[in-house]
Amino acid sequence: MIEVKCTGHAFEREISHILALFYQDPDIAFVAEWQQPEALQIELALMPVAGGVRTHGVLRHGRYRDEESCERLYKEGGEKGERRTAKQAINATLLNLMERYTGLEQGWGILTGIRPTKLLHQLLRSGRGREEAHRYLRSDCLVRPEKLALLQEIADRQLAVIPDLYQIERELSVYIGIPFCPTKCAYCTFPAYAIEGQKGRVRGFLEGLHYEIRAIGGWMKQSGMPITSIYFGGGTPTSITAEELDELFAVLHESFPGLDRVREWTVEAGRPDTITPQKLEVLKKWRVDRISINPQSFSDATLAAIGRHHSVAETIETFQLARQMGIDNINMDLIIGLPNEGLAEVQHSFAQVERLLPDSLTVHTLSFKRASEMTQHKERYQVASRAEIARMMAYATEWTRAHGYRPYYLYRQKNILGNLENVGYALPGKESIYNVMIMEEAQTILGLGCGAVSKLLAPASGQLIRWPNPKDPKTYNETYRQLVAKKLQALKEIYFGGGATAHA
Ligand code: SF4
Repeated sequence: MIEVKCTGHAFEREISHILALFYQDPDIAFVAEWQQPEALQIELALMPVAGGVRTHGVLRHGRYRDEESCERLYKEGGEKGERRTAKQAINATLLNLMERYTGLEQGWGILTGIRPTKLLHQLLRSGRGREEAHRYLRSDCLVRPEKLALLQEIADRQLAVIPDLYQIERELSVYIGIPFCPTKCAYCTFPAYAIEGQKGRVRGFLEGLHYEIRAIGGWMKQSGMPITSIYFGGGTPTSITAEELDELFAVLHESFPGLDRVREWTVEAGRPDTITPQKLEVLKKWRVDRISINPQSFSDATLAAIGRHHSVAETIETFQLARQMGIDNINMDLIIGLPNEGLAEVQHSFAQVERLLPDSLTVHTLSFKRASEMTQHKERYQVASRAEIARMMAYATEWTRAHGYRPYYLYRQKNILGNLENVGYALPGKESIYNVMIMEEAQTILGLGCGAVSKLLAPASGQLIRWPNPKDPKTYNETYRQLVAKKLQALKEIYFGGGATAHA
């Protein structure tokens, strides 16, 4: 139980986020007077002083009593700037107190709910020099030097791969969501429905998707915007048949202009149990540049425990098949912190990866997403301690560097084990352009199909407007005509009408 007393501010939401870095699902009460003597009691006061704010924090628990005070100056920029600085000051004070009390160091400082690389790009784009941007991240956001070095390395890599990254809003990317998988993995909250016994629904969904592609293709021709990258995700797009996949590519090519100039085509073939020589032929026929075959772990026991229903041998066989068929850019995803896995299991997985050497490797840290089966039945899944997770992640970092992989994108999620991050590594020249686009939110992503979220970057205001399609195939199949009409109207207003409409 944690009691928090706020004086001179009401940053309750932000305080809850900082406390969640230290405890899983903390029980927090915001109080005017202390209620529970045995609770961890934290008092955070904010006081205006000439040209700035002063914060004062006190933490008490049993005999433990610590005090932290810090002073931060308002920055220019009016009400929003002042509020942001006040919020940062409170967060930083709380973080300092909690780090001292728990002994846990937070590498990302007070950055929560924010894309760290996007923030760095924004600082650099705004004309602040690298030194000033780093000072801000280090001193105001309390980001630790090793994380800062990682951020800068990633930002540099992204600019090397996409030299026009800061002008890329003139183009857009396309995401196509296919919401089916052979089975649902226990940690998954993606729109992914077990395909078995759903033939009718798959057919209906594909009709809707073809309709949406044709309609949006008409708008694309009108807008004249070039397409940077196209990404098929979901679900597992290779869950549908080779014929259905082939037809989908044919519809795309009939409907979208300028596809010969697309910089990158990716298809998630994540589940090895969906890959066949016929499907790989289709991907080659339509010149797909990059696919993913995702082991997640090289332990059959772990795969069974997380409901993936494929074997390690299948992963290796499909990877070798794709290579033999000439696919020269294959990504693999691994997850650190899967149930019953520790450093030994992770070392075993990397030893297997070493035999295959994919072109890129995305290392995720397990996150407990609210709606996943794993979170709903947490007691069934034993995961490693925070210290073990940190050791596994350190091993992954060392291994990737030693094998020539370089980090090129990064993202963090809520409830991620050890408050770590997910990092995409690639051999030089094999980075995914789409992954950079989606992480940095540098341009519009048009999402088509089930569970696809369009992120429309309004050219006039720079505002990012989220436009989600329905997650489940039943709703999508029943409503796609209306949803496409509304989306076209929004696109018209944002791009041709100079306005921005929030999604209703
Ligand atoms: S394969 Fe991917 S999308 Fe499908 S259920 Fe597993 S995690 Fe979710």
